[in-house]
Amino acid sequence: MPYDPGNVFARILRDEIPSDRVYEDDEVVAFRDIAPHAPTHIVVIPRGEPPTSPAELDDADAPWVGRLVVRASRIAAEQGLAHDGYRLILNCGAHGGQTVPHLHMHILGGRPLGPLG
Ligand code: 5GP
Repeated sequence: MPYDPGNVFARILRDEIPSDRVYEDDEVVAFRDIAPHAPTHIVVIPRGEPPTSPAELDDADAPWVGRLVVRASRIAAEQGLAHDGYRLILNCGAHGGQTVPHLHMHILGGRPLGPLG
């Protein structure tokens, strides 16, 4: 799928839409989800025009995807979630519940999240 520069995360990156940022560096921006599913719900997004979903990843993406996971776990720790635990999610496509076509990782925590599903 071609990247849509009008998607909501692209607009957040360009500061066309305000966001409650909790972390940013040269590769990623992390902000609080506008419709949280847990007491702490943060979305971590790569800067630029990444693949639209996990389905588009290939081996060449492994280094930055790995760093995305490491960043997310560090942000979770900074948010005080490390002791009790948290969930990292990459949604993919319609059945995965993905609504924004800019690959991203959710951090959910702050309460027992229970089983998947
Ligand atoms: P997805 O469902 O694609 O995995 O995740 C997209 C997430 O982006 C959803 O949890 C949704 O609540 C969040 N979201 C959509 N629009 C906005 C927005 O304008 N600001 C923020 N902070 N989050 C948004």
